[in-house]
Amino acid sequence: MKETIKKKISEKLAELEKINQYLFDFPEEGYQEYKASKILRETLMNNGFEVEKGAYGIETAFKGVYNSGKKGPTVAFLCEYDALPDIGHGCGHNLIASVGVGAALGLKSVIDDTGGTIVVLGTPAEETSGAKVEMVRQGAFDDISFVMMAHPSALSEESGTSLALNAIEFDYRGKPAHAAHSPHKGINALDSVIFLFNGINALRQHVPSSIRMHGIITNGGAAANIVPEHAVAQFYVRAPKKELRDEVTEKVIAIAEGAAKMAGSKMTYKYYEEPYDDLRTNQTLSKVFNLNLLDLGEAQIFQNASSRGSLDIGNVSQVVPTIHPWIGMGDETLVPHTREFAEHTLTQKGKEALYKGACALAMTAYDVIVSKDLQNEIHEEFEQKIKS
Ligand SMILES: [Zn+2]
Ligand SMILES: [Zn+2]
Repeated sequence: MKETIKKKISEKLAELEKINQYLFDFPEEGYQEYKASKILRETLMNNGFEVEKGAYGIETAFKGVYNSGKKGPTVAFLCEYDALPDIGHGCGHNLIASVGVGAALGLKSVIDDTGGTIVVLGTPAEETSGAKVEMVRQGAFDDISFVMMAHPSALSEESGTSLALNAIEFDYRGKPAHAAHSPHKGINALDSVIFLFNGINALRQHVPSSIRMHGIITNGGAAANIVPEHAVAQFYVRAPKKELRDEVTEKVIAIAEGAAKMAGSKMTYKYYEEPYDDLRTNQTLSKVFNLNLLDLGEAQIFQNASSRGSLDIGNVSQVVPTIHPWIGMGDETLVPHTREFAEHTLTQKGKEALYKGACALAMTAYDVIVSKDLQNEIHEEFEQKIKS
């Protein structure tokens, strides 16, 4: 059966490479991925999937389904396809999308025999305010048995963790006045922002060293001769677990309130991007994937050394067993979010990563679909992780 999967993906490789190239040629930022979403939907439709455009009320999201009609688990492959400003597919999401579709086509070649259902979810805007968070909210994963995707990287790394994140905007309102003639008549909103930064800097000493708090001032006043009437700062609070993220966020908000009091300004705050939860990799599923990748000739899979920023698949991993492995493009000098990284997705090594990623995902799904024991083990691990 695995030979059938590999053969099918080999047959489709030219088409998958075309998708990869097309997305590279027309990079689109989050929630603007009209071209990418269209070509992926069309490919799935042409290959017998039922496809819903604009799934979950998100214009550039989609859901593709192929149901074998026989009982079995429902596996979801996720496709990301948003690009970065100026540098295009510097995160290689063109490759994520072609790998995801390739895996679905590969698995489809055997699923009429094994039973089960394939779902492909197009998930926009991973780089900014990830759509997966809203999709989780709307129950997109409620009927899914397990979720997989593969992200390109310099070298192959097993699915690991990611940092939970809150994105908070603090808005301070003061009162304008001539800064020299009548400063005593004014209320300085910028002072509040400066107190906020200093307060957060003091807090750093009293949080675990794994916490990341970083911010910018997006409005610091209009002119030096006017007491700033309005000032705004944006902060990211990140932590290895969502519970700790929320604990620290509460302290940051208390500081922000104090900063308003100190200057006499009024503060409001909002979460200006979706909160990302930490990624909890399902190790049972991850091990099956690693074995398949090695089987496909990958020389080495590195341990996930450190949390790499934050991922919206974190939220998915809190509601369904999930893996997010990194597929190496065979060059350890590659740095994500660069033009070189984007260009590498089109090289021979990039294409090999496409083939290996798609095959390993489909073969892993196959292994799980045909083994009740594996399914039970995956779900037991998931239940334990979520309760812990
Ligand atoms: Zn990225
Ligand atoms: Zn990425």
